[in-house]
Amino acid sequence: MKTARVSARQMGLISCEDCHLLSRMPKTSTHGVAHCPRCGGELHQRKRNSIARTWALVVAAMAFYLPANLLPMTITSAVGTVSADTIMSGVIYFMQHGSWEIALVIFTASVFVPFLKFIILIYLLLAVQFKLVKQPKDLTRLYRFTEAIGRWSMLDIYVVTILVALVKLGFLANIEAGPAALYFALVVVTTMVAAESFDPRLIWDVVEEKHE
Ligand SMILES: [Zn+2]
Repeated sequence: MKTARVSARQMGLISCEDCHLLSRMPKTSTHGVAHCPRCGGELHQRKRNSIARTWALVVAAMAFYLPANLLPMTITSAVGTVSADTIMSGVIYFMQHGSWEIALVIFTASVFVPFLKFIILIYLLLAVQFKLVKQPKDLTRLYRFTEAIGRWSMLDIYVVTILVALVKLGFLANIEAGPAALYFALVVVTTMVAAESFDPRLIWDVVEEKHE
């Protein structure tokens, strides 16, 4: 293997997550835990239980995704009538009223993006777990992509706000956020933490193992 392509782990080096000091892999102390020689923080070569933790968070996020989409997102009451709208009925409402741009934004942010994140994270998890890494660069790119769209996750929250504002502009008497809003926030948070808990270095570890 070329020296330029040797990972810290292969060289017996370990980087501290707290102070980023790169040190020689110390002999593990009494409880099997190594500590940073500078700041004393616990040292880990890879994020701990990355795969199990990411799986748990993805499953939790998918469980929240169902009520987020099936329960009412907004409850509007106009003169004498009360209507509860789910995300999809909201999308359909805007499409029927000619605001297809708004419908598209709501659909993308609320339905499509979280779904895409589930698919990518599951794909990455399976690839690492079953050591089926053929194109590590592409997988790393996919991971970067989920991280990047994670930054836009909060868009969902803005969507609800815009929705409320728009309905208010439509002179409806009253609008409230429905129970789906809570599940929705939970989907956003759990998918963000799931992407964060996945360690992309595991992708390259599979490649390294194959070459050893
Ligand atoms: Zn340190």
